[in-house]
Amino acid sequence: MSQPSPHLDRLRLLRPFAARLCAGLACMAVTVLIQLAYPKALSYFIDNINLQKDMAWFSSLALIMLAVLAVQAVAATARYYIFESTGYMIVTRIRRQLYAALIDQPIRFYDKHHVGELNNRLTADVEILHDTLTMGMAVSLRCLCVFIGGVAMLLTISPVLCLMLVFFLPATLYLGKVTGKVYRKQARLMQDGQADCAKVAHEHFSNIRLVHAFSQQRTARTRYAGATEHALSLSVSSSALFALFRGGSSFLVYLALLGTLWFGARLIGQGALSVGDLTAFILYASMVTEAAGAIGEFWNAWMRTIGATEWIFEVINAECAPPAAAGGEVRLQGNLAFNDVVFSYPERPDAQALKGIDFAIAAGETIALVGASGAGKSTIASLILGFYQPDSGSISFDGVDAGAMPLAGIRSKLAIVEQEPSLFSGSIFENIAFAVAEREVTLDEVKAAAALAYAHDFICCFPDGYDTLVGEHGTQLSGGQKQRIAIARALLRDPRILILDEATSALDSASELQVQHALDTLMQGRTTIIIAHRFSTIVKADRILVLDQGRLAQQGTHAQLVAQQDGLYFHLMRHQLARAQPVAA
Ligand code: ADP
Repeated sequence: MSQPSPHLDRLRLLRPFAARLCAGLACMAVTVLIQLAYPKALSYFIDNINLQKDMAWFSSLALIMLAVLAVQAVAATARYYIFESTGYMIVTRIRRQLYAALIDQPIRFYDKHHVGELNNRLTADVEILHDTLTMGMAVSLRCLCVFIGGVAMLLTISPVLCLMLVFFLPATLYLGKVTGKVYRKQARLMQDGQADCAKVAHEHFSNIRLVHAFSQQRTARTRYAGATEHALSLSVSSSALFALFRGGSSFLVYLALLGTLWFGARLIGQGALSVGDLTAFILYASMVTEAAGAIGEFWNAWMRTIGATEWIFEVINAECAPPAAAGGEVRLQGNLAFNDVVFSYPERPDAQALKGIDFAIAAGETIALVGASGAGKSTIASLILGFYQPDSGSISFDGVDAGAMPLAGIRSKLAIVEQEPSLFSGSIFENIAFAVAEREVTLDEVKAAAALAYAHDFICCFPDGYDTLVGEHGTQLSGGQKQRIAIARALLRDPRILILDEATSALDSASELQVQHALDTLMQGRTTIIIAHRFSTIVKADRILVLDQGRLAQQGTHAQLVAQQDGLYFHLMRHQLARAQPVAA
């Protein structure tokens, strides 16, 4: 695939706003014309001031100038508004595009990129386009017009005097080109540095309770200072480069003006030039040199923007995971099989998390996944949900390879209830209705699901009922309440296959009982895979799969596995068995 041009990629962002930008350019043309006419008018004024006794011409000239200045003011205001507001529109558009691209990224992308970093990319990196793409580009276009118009005027006044500028202008433009290249590289590093700072800050803010509880404020400060120090050193070296460019080009400007003045004075002495002409020439020359400097500066800013937004365009242009929304509906009974599945996480390719897992689950069966921490239980759940693809082997639903079915179709038949249920900061209604993406959900449906999940009663006790806001991550609800809302959400989805990641921390016995009742309702008639921690759950499962370091060590019912006293299951469960025995006795 051919590499898209970084320049075209950015310029393409302007296309939807072509009409607005043309209006802005028209306003700009008016201001440029007036700007170009100004020195000529001044030259006329100077050369006529002594010759004309009658000053009536001056009053009419002043009136015309006033009208022209009023037109210029209106055009300049309109130009500023149009370019500035279009800049914001472009930023919003690219921000939406980037967000859409990020949301579609496969889960492995999120293993690699931190939330704080992504947030920073969405705000700071995108913002950079605002100034360069509209205002910056408009100003440089204006400068280009001024430059071309100014050179034409200079040539009409005195082609000989123009020779003075011939050496200077290419030098300024060349200076801009050279520094632009360095800027591009530097800008990417600067944005990476900023993203790193955002990552560190986000990490500590999101774990602020832990930071305070362990009195780690000093470490937090040190880590942030380290990250900002690095970002600062990049910005400072970039400023040095910018200052050098500025100093260099302004030196060249003044050098050229000095030369022009010296040579112009000689031409006046020889009678080849009038004082008014020299004044106009100097004004045009400073306009032209200033414009050339601004074009060089814009080129630098443009290259900086390209560097700073490289990451954004890499993400937007990258081929995303197969879009989760694509594909038709899938009918599943709920049979599931892992066929010799081998898998390593992309971030840890050397360590196999699953080393040839082989099992089949019949529709309606309840399976408990048991094993020490790190054995691969959650990895199995992630693979069922299609977050990652197996390196070898396959996963099949009702005997059909998952790879041959639309991912969105499969996922529509799956639901997960997590160990720590994730809630959004909206209302209870929104959190339950989240289960169904493809259509609007009615309040009655949500209420029915909540009733089955034993959540309706406590929700009705809140003054705002289903409109109650749950706070960030559901902090305004108790553990048991959050669990039951998550169960209601899963019920509303009406999945064929259910994945339960059992909470390790025990709820109080009343909540526990309600959550258990809710889960029993949810599991009825569905294939259920439980990442099980509690003895009571494990014992009740139809079958238990015992995992050991990515391998399936044993499988069978509780009774069968307990009978194998040299097996891993007996070893894992012996404390719980010892506790359960007296009760049984
Ligand atoms: P369990 O759920 O049984 O505790 P996991 O399935 O979470 O175990 O983990 C299995 C192995 O995969 C562990 O060695 C763990 O460190 C590793 N692992 C889990 N998640 C990731 C990840 N996102 N990236 C890299 N390695 C991971």
